[in-house]
Amino acid sequence: MNHENSRAMYERALTLMPGGVNSPVRSFAAVDRDPVFIQHGKGATVTDVDGNTYLDYVLSWGPMILGHSDPDVIRALEKALQNGTSFGAPTEAENMLASMIVDNVSSIERIRMVNSGTEAVMTALRLARAFTGRSKIVKFSGNYHGHSDGLLVEAGSGILTQGIPGSPGVPESIVENTITARYNDDEMIRQLFKEQGNEIAAIIAEPVAGNMGVVPMTMEFAQTLREVTEEHDSLLILDEVMTGFRLAFEGAQCLYNIKPDLTCYSKVIGGGLPVGAFGGRFDVMKLMAPKGPVYQAGTLSGNPLAMTAGYHTLEKLVSNPNIYQQLDRQTMKLERGLRTLIEKYNVSATVNRVGSMLSLFFTDQPVSDYESASKSDTDMYGQFFRGMMERGIYLPSSQFESWFLSVCHDDQVIDQTIEAAESVFETMFK
Ligand code: PMP
Repeated sequence: MNHENSRAMYERALTLMPGGVNSPVRSFAAVDRDPVFIQHGKGATVTDVDGNTYLDYVLSWGPMILGHSDPDVIRALEKALQNGTSFGAPTEAENMLASMIVDNVSSIERIRMVNSGTEAVMTALRLARAFTGRSKIVKFSGNYHGHSDGLLVEAGSGILTQGIPGSPGVPESIVENTITARYNDDEMIRQLFKEQGNEIAAIIAEPVAGNMGVVPMTMEFAQTLREVTEEHDSLLILDEVMTGFRLAFEGAQCLYNIKPDLTCYSKVIGGGLPVGAFGGRFDVMKLMAPKGPVYQAGTLSGNPLAMTAGYHTLEKLVSNPNIYQQLDRQTMKLERGLRTLIEKYNVSATVNRVGSMLSLFFTDQPVSDYESASKSDTDMYGQFFRGMMERGIYLPSSQFESWFLSVCHDDQVIDQTIEAAESVFETMFK
């Protein structure tokens, strides 16, 4: 494969942006390779600036559940574009996306749109603190909730990959109210609430973690989180930035059958444009400005193009309930294919999957939390990643990210992926 143009663009980018990128994981640093520059995407594929086409399992890190350049979304965007791009005033498109969510997700009585997942979580925590009059929050090791100061503590995603404990520039005084607990450890969270429950404003959690690779919550742990927060008048905030509208229309909360007080969204609700949102109980949400005292604002929040892409994406999902079964079936096919290869080549690896989120961990132990995820052989993942890339399969450039499937990942795409994986395993393990 020729990468001449990507190489030249990366060299130029290195002179312009720190590390040549606008978000760290794009640099491919964790897999010891230069990144490719993407020119366009269609369905399950992306094509780079040298004309190489890949089957895409990154999907912009989750949003593109309909595949790239979905014709209905693009048509709606082209139409919206004719009216102008931003007004900083209310538009009907905001009502349309908001009602799509409020009418279909039972835990969401009110919603506020922002521009990213980071913003959504940051504001939801401010709101939880204001509502409860308490300062402490609880998060879990290996869960990532964006890059706001108070949450860069044992975060997942790029932080886990690069082994940075939090980040320089985050004052201790800010993170001292952030308590980190072990994911899926019922006893620890019960003990914590016994000791400090009355000082805790909220628990924030990824219901299916995607930022230490895919690690689902146990059903029992989800129930425990709901119970301890209810018992102590704390709020339960589910970070469904990855899982919302992806694992089911109502997200992971419907799979676990728990009703959070607040939920954070991003990714799929923006259909590939920058959108974040948080929403939930009316009595909590009514504290938000301008009616309430909790401040939050955004020049581009509720941007009409972003609302249009989000609405038309969700509209397709809600009007075709079979989509989630189809995604599950295709991802299961991929999971089975990988498991067969792991056995055939006797590889120390394990696959975690929930719906259309999947990770292949290079460890033979079960992965259920940050500690077990960290045992993965990241060099081996790097080798696998590079092999797959050479064979036209674009995987997340880190062991600790989720692979995502879209409705365009049909049988042929899955078969081609498994064939490529077998060919890479042959070079690595024969
Ligand atoms: N929460 C979760 C669960 C995420 O996966 C991410 C991003 N991958 C974020 C929050 C932050 O979202 P953003 O990158 O849009 O700020």
